[in-house]
Amino acid sequence: MIENTINKCPICDSKANYIFTSKREKEILHCSSSLCEHFFTPMIKSDQGICLRPDDLEKESNESLEMFNDRNLKLLSLFKKHLKNKNGVLKFLDFGAGNAHISRTFKKILKDNCLIYCLDTNPLVKDFYSKYQLKQIESTTEIKEKIDLIYMVEVIEHLEDPVSTMKTLRPLLNSNGSIFISTPLGKKKQNLTNAYDTESHLHFFSEKSLNLTLKKSGFSQIKYKFYTEMHGPPLNKKIISKISNFLKLILKIIISKITFLKTINHLVGFTNPEK
Ligand SMILES: [Zn+2]
Repeated sequence: MIENTINKCPICDSKANYIFTSKREKEILHCSSSLCEHFFTPMIKSDQGICLRPDDLEKESNESLEMFNDRNLKLLSLFKKHLKNKNGVLKFLDFGAGNAHISRTFKKILKDNCLIYCLDTNPLVKDFYSKYQLKQIESTTEIKEKIDLIYMVEVIEHLEDPVSTMKTLRPLLNSNGSIFISTPLGKKKQNLTNAYDTESHLHFFSEKSLNLTLKKSGFSQIKYKFYTEMHGPPLNKKIISKISNFLKLILKIIISKITFLKTINHLVGFTNPEK
């Protein structure tokens, strides 16, 4: 047990205190600085942040694609609206690409008008991304051109040292480039968030600690807001077409309430390199 030992916050170096043991048997510590309020679990194993994936990555990717394709399309519209360089081939980096369902959706739509680098530390992804015309890389040093947008969807909470990793991403971006980040919000009670449900989560950011991470790594502060584009997968369209308009309306209201409750448990937004 580490309840009585002094632990340092990995974001700001302040003293951190044990607050509870999560349902994944991880000891959760909370940073004592009121400017940070970061939550984290100390790393005990070197690969603790790597997300467990099934051996059949293709099956998992296809299932995710089916479930999230509509959401991914909305995300692409959001990114295109945000991008300042609209001419020429868009250059993306899917950082922590996982089973790559997001990038597969993007590539299917943008075709040769995009170049998408995909990177993940999980050894299972070897040679997987190139099957889908995505540029498979093992390190960001392989990127020889400037990137318009890096997306890190549910990734930063898995990183051993978020500040130093974010620093390495800064020089990859072009002068108008951005990073899109989403991460589950850390809270003092585990039943108020799903952040603590995943075995490989190391960090549980507060609004302050995520912005402090960005400040320390040379990025602008995120103005957190509710993005409808990040909504979960819609109900199966076939089921919806079979029910009456009245029921559809009721369902829509219920879903929007549930989705809203889920989404306020996430920190989402764009950040840019500070000039
Ligand atoms: Zn801290």
